[in-house]
Amino acid sequence: MQKVNSFIIDHKKLLPGVYECQVNGVFTYDIRFVKPQDAAHRGLFMDPKVAHTLEHFMADYLRTKTSEEFSSTLLYVGPMGCLTGFYFLTSISYTAEFWRKMVLECVNYILTQDVIPGASELTCGNWQYFDLSGAKEFIKNVIIPNFTSEEFCCEYPYCGE
Ligand SMILES: [Zn+2]
Repeated sequence: MQKVNSFIIDHKKLLPGVYECQVNGVFTYDIRFVKPQDAAHRGLFMDPKVAHTLEHFMADYLRTKTSEEFSSTLLYVGPMGCLTGFYFLTSISYTAEFWRKMVLECVNYILTQDVIPGASELTCGNWQYFDLSGAKEFIKNVIIPNFTSEEFCCEYPYCGE
C-alpha cells in the first residue's frame, strides 16, 4: 500500500477499499465502505445511528474478539464524519487484504448478534441512539458487496491525476 501524507485525494474517483496513511509513527487506515459518489448521488452512507451501532460493534470486536497480538496494536476505531467509512488506527502496519478479511469477519459476526456491546447509560454517551436493524441492512446492502467486489481498492486517486 502507498503511504499518504497529505489530503489531496480525489474523492470523486475514490472507490470502496482500505487506504493506509502513516503520520507521526501511527498507522491510520481509511476503511472506506462506500464510494463518495454513491454517498452523494445514491444516498448510500451510514445513518448516524447506524454509524454509532457499527462503532460499538467494531470497537468491541477488534479489541476483544481478535488475537492479543493484534488487539495490543489497535489504538482507535471510529466512524468518519462524512459517514462513508471508518478510521482504524494501529501502532504497526497491516495489509489491505488483512483489513478486508477482518472487516468481513466482523460484519458477518454482527449479523448474528442481537445485543449491542456497551449500549448502556454507564458506558455510552448516547446509549439509546442506535439502529441495529439498520446496521445489518447497511452491512448486507453496502459493506459486504463492496468489500467482496472487484472495485475494492487500496491505492488513493490524487487530485489532478
Ligand atoms: Zn456509544
